[in-house]
Amino acid sequence: MGYFTGFKVTLRQMWKPRVTVKYPEQKRPKPVRFHGRHVLNRYEDGMEKCIGCELCAGVCPARCIHVRGRDNPPDAPVSPGERYGFVYEINYLRCIHCDLCVEACPTEAITESKLFEFSFTSRQDAIYTRAELLVSEDGAPQQLPWEDWRPGDDHDTSAWMRATSPSGSAAEEGIVHWSGERGYGVRAPEQGQAPAAVPAGSRLVGRGALTEPAPSTPAAVAAGLEPDGDGGSSGPLTPEDGALQ
Ligand code: SF4
Ligand code: SF4
Repeated sequence: MGYFTGFKVTLRQMWKPRVTVKYPEQKRPKPVRFHGRHVLNRYEDGMEKCIGCELCAGVCPARCIHVRGRDNPPDAPVSPGERYGFVYEINYLRCIHCDLCVEACPTEAITESKLFEFSFTSRQDAIYTRAELLVSEDGAPQQLPWEDWRPGDDHDTSAWMRATSPSGSAAEEGIVHWSGERGYGVRAPEQGQAPAAVPAGSRLVGRGALTEPAPSTPAAVAAGLEPDGDGGSSGPLTPEDGALQ
């Protein structure tokens, strides 16, 4: 390539719109389902959602959660249940941000914010304790000295958990099955997760990715093949129903 041919490439690129930003001063908006630093949420009345059940610790593939539950003090309960998370720790030297802990949690206590810029200089700082993970009294995540929070990083924590699951019924699209959070109320569901509208005369099959003609004859009803409105049949479960896979 000649000398001027090389410059031609440079000049041609100079007039194109830039796709880079001046990081870290400028940052791109994060995806709505981004998995960042965890938070332990409170209900709108301020009570902690964690009941110390340890399901999150049990499901964590990196074995980085340590939880211990304790009975709630009768005079000053910490959570609405019998127990609360007395000890809660996440070791961020191990966490892979898979969000399985979020999925396992029965009370939506643990979710993930969009903060990913938190670097520490000691192993001790990498182990976040309950005191650091728990949102403050106004419901906002605590901001530790080594964390770089930007506006929006605490919005829509684990939004995908509030979406209609792809394996669920399209009829659930947009319906919230999510308790309110301190400072944010009941967050809106994420849209667009259900499969395309099911054509008339069809039904969902398996995990909702496919459709097939819906049986409607009396014989089909008697055989338990009549669709029951939740994406499956009213007959005995089969691997096709998704529950036996
Ligand atoms: S995001 Fe995954 S690796 Fe991290 S604490 Fe939760 S379950 Fe464990
Ligand atoms: S965060 Fe959720 S799953 Fe983990 S101990 Fe608390 S209530 Fe149980």
